Amino acid sequence: MSISAASAKATSPHALPSYLNPDHPGPWGIYLQQVDRVTPYLGSLSRWVETLKRPKRALIVDVPIELDNGTMAHFEGYRVQHNTSRGPGKGGVRFHQDVTLSEVMALSAWMSVKNAAVNLPFGGAKGGIRVDPKTLSRGELERLTRRYTSEIGIIIGPTKDIPAPDVNTNEQIMAWMMDTYSMNEGATASGVVTGKPIALGGSLGRREATGRGVYTVGQEAAQHIGLDIGQARIAVQGFGNVGGIAAKLFAQAGATLVAVQDHGGTVYEAAGLDVHALLRHVSEHGSVQGFENAEVLSDEAFWGVACDILIPAALEQQITAANAHQIQARMVIEGANGPTTPEADDILHERGILVVPDVIANAGGVTVSYFEWVQDFSSFFWSEDEINARLVRIMREAFAAIWQVADEHQVSLRTATFIVACTRILQARELRGLYP
Ligand code: NAD
Repeated sequence: MSISAASAKATSPHALPSYLNPDHPGPWGIYLQQVDRVTPYLGSLSRWVETLKRPKRALIVDVPIELDNGTMAHFEGYRVQHNTSRGPGKGGVRFHQDVTLSEVMALSAWMSVKNAAVNLPFGGAKGGIRVDPKTLSRGELERLTRRYTSEIGIIIGPTKDIPAPDVNTNEQIMAWMMDTYSMNEGATASGVVTGKPIALGGSLGRREATGRGVYTVGQEAAQHIGLDIGQARIAVQGFGNVGGIAAKLFAQAGATLVAVQDHGGTVYEAAGLDVHALLRHVSEHGSVQGFENAEVLSDEAFWGVACDILIPAALEQQITAANAHQIQARMVIEGANGPTTPEADDILHERGILVVPDVIANAGGVTVSYFEWVQDFSSFFWSEDEINARLVRIMREAFAAIWQVADEHQVSLRTATFIVACTRILQARELRGLYP
């Protein structure tokens, strides 16, 4: 870029900060493309669209801990609050060796969209530490979690930003986060995180909520395309909290689980894998690898498996231009966040494969997180049946509204979800106005 072009860009009222380069590939670049696609549908609210294209606040923290062998290790941690126009920030914390600021920014933005899509009174946020937690002892993991929580403690809180579990974080980590924040505040603050153990103010139904939401929108979408769940063949990538539970619920409804891929490999059985035996195997051995009575497939072959419903429930950017042509499914339900690249999205759309996007498909987890937060504030806890019934109602209503918008504008479900969500966020933005 010439100097004059660079200075023109720098002085433009809409110039993006250098770290928000829309040409930069990666999750944040994908999110920016998604916002661009929806902008023509926002009417007069599009004058506020720039607020969606940059996070409100991004904190990078150094997380030093003493390892068990007495040496020191430093890890980089992040907490990004993308938008708080509709309420406090809300979103998980990921511990993974590939975590980057760009990834956390995109995940925080998708949380803004997701929370608005299901009409929860939250903005969007996300956090993470660049670490492979499998290399740490339990004590090291606890020290890492507590130091990270202290470092981000300046911006989180029950009415400011409420973290939750994500990849490689769980109830125990939420318990340590809640305790650390509470110790620093001098008062027990159970509403500072969700996804806590039941004994600490966690909600019944939270552990299964994301998978249950995936299953619920899958049922609704299947009805629209005339697919009988009881006869459907399912392939799932990622057999953890989201993929494992979704697979179990589809199987309970009579569907046949034909293939599962996780970090250890891919197993396939045309006549159907035994879901309960596979869940047991994974909890004992850590992965699907070595599961008996199943064929082993190459990782690439997974994408071409004959199935009706494909559920990516692992990491982002898994369905790409390289494998989208192989997909046989009639619909893809995105359990993971950002599993489909925009190019792959277009290919699937052209091929008539329905994509139920992450921003609605995996919103069940944050919906029950919202119930947990409400229960913590009122110190009054609901039954699991009540929670599941409320979850299913919210997911069905949200899906119906999005389907209607997709039909009205003849756009994909992803664009329709963004239209519904971005309209709500920007309406709140406009009503609040700019301070000062
Ligand atoms: P998890 O840690 O419980 O499970 C992750 C699964 O992905 C594991 O089975 C793992 O083996 C598999 N995996 C990891 N790397 C892989 C690879 N390279 N190839 C194939 N499989 C791989 O995590 P989770 O909570 O189930 O989250 C999965 C996805 O769902 C993430 O994108 C997460 O952001 C999203 N999500 C989770 C929740 C929730 O409530 N847990 C809510 C919304 C969205």
